[in-house]
Amino acid sequence: MGIVQGKRALVVGVANDKSLAWQIAQTLAREGAEVALTYQGEVLEKRVRPLAAQIEASVIGELDVTSDAQIAAVFATIKEKWGGLDLLVHAVAFAEREDLRDRFLTVSRANFARSLEISAYSLVALARAAEPLMEACGGGSIITLTYLGAVRAIPNYNMMGVAKAALEACVRYLSMDLGAKNIRVNALSAGPARTLSSSAIRDFHTMAHQVEERAPLRRAMRPEEVGTMAAALLSDFSSGVTGQTIYVDVGFNIMGF
Ligand code: NAP
Repeated sequence: MGIVQGKRALVVGVANDKSLAWQIAQTLAREGAEVALTYQGEVLEKRVRPLAAQIEASVIGELDVTSDAQIAAVFATIKEKWGGLDLLVHAVAFAEREDLRDRFLTVSRANFARSLEISAYSLVALARAAEPLMEACGGGSIITLTYLGAVRAIPNYNMMGVAKAALEACVRYLSMDLGAKNIRVNALSAGPARTLSSSAIRDFHTMAHQVEERAPLRRAMRPEEVGTMAAALLSDFSSGVTGQTIYVDVGFNIMGF
């Protein structure tokens, strides 16, 4: 029997087979969960549907997290389909390419606001929509994905670092609000992984290489390690854990030099 056997999970943020959300979706399915995926736009729908078929997941519908109407529609469909929701995975982030290089100082007001909205506020909006469905199940578990750039200044990560700092703070405040309903909220801080999003960060490959050389485990994080830790954080194995940022980065964050 899997560690999330019989749980119903909504996974937001699968863009392709390199997405960390895809690693998580596969692990959840393997560990016994029923999985539902969303997509953003027609191009992604074409990529997401065949992936969903591989793990017998359902594709719930389109979800651009800046749209309250789409959020409402997705959760209405979940309610109709399952009557409740046990697990929610938020793996969504955005910053303009120009804000992932050179000086942070140059970020515009509009780009700053958009990045925070998509990368941090969206967790609040999804958690609020999930609350009644999780309450109906006697509780639930929510995770989001973050990066070390939230708490350290990392060259080129710039705007996304500020958005991740906000996201990690949202995790703590949401945990406080939702804990009485037995809903847990945690962040998983992943090491560098080659995905669509990370390809926008200048010199990402150099950074990833340095992590391999300096991290305690002396290797790159394996994307499937995000899947297994996510499943553990979503499962009842971590029932006493909420409001935390858990690092899956082959230990890199502990190093001072
Ligand atoms: P990814 O495959 O590109 O996933 C990012 C997802 O965010 C995509 O599905 C993207 O869809 C979605 N997204 C962006 N704007 C959206 C919006 N308005 N509404 C709905 N979805 C939207 O890259 P990933 O690396 O797996 O990223 C997943 C999460 O992991 C992100 O939070 C990222 O910051 C975090 N993370 C990544 C790394 C890494 O090294 N890769 C490390 C630590 C944490 P579109 O493609 O349509 O924009």
